[in-house]
Amino acid sequence: MQKEEIFKRIIDKAVLGGWQPQGILKGLLDGTLATGMETNFYKFILNSSDNAWYGYIFDIEFAKAVWGNKIHNAEKMRTTRDVCPDCGDAQVTTHISANYELCYEFHLRKLVIAEDKLKYLEKFVMT
Ligand SMILES: [Zn+2]
Repeated sequence: MQKEEIFKRIIDKAVLGGWQPQGILKGLLDGTLATGMETNFYKFILNSSDNAWYGYIFDIEFAKAVWGNKIHNAEKMRTTRDVCPDCGDAQVTTHISANYELCYEFHLRKLVIAEDKLKYLEKFVMT
């Protein structure tokens, strides 16, 4: 999947989850700004030298909308192949604090240390 497509899809997922975009993105999504700019917008943000797109993916409300804020609890999963019933992710850590970590906290932590952040996000926008 292309980088812009992943970024667009994760934004769509956040909006579906209740996140409310502001500024240019809000205008693009609600149609009050010229249509046709949308594809360029995602590309532009991704290619900006100051990693402006981090402002979206590392926003707490954005992350809550994408992954939810229920407990990402390893105890809910009987085997390492099970998925968290709240965020749908199969990744389980054995670290004790994970038992009390919320889904969005777990994924934000993973996202911070991910070398390729779009690759990390991609698995949550596959359908
Ligand atoms: Zn979870």
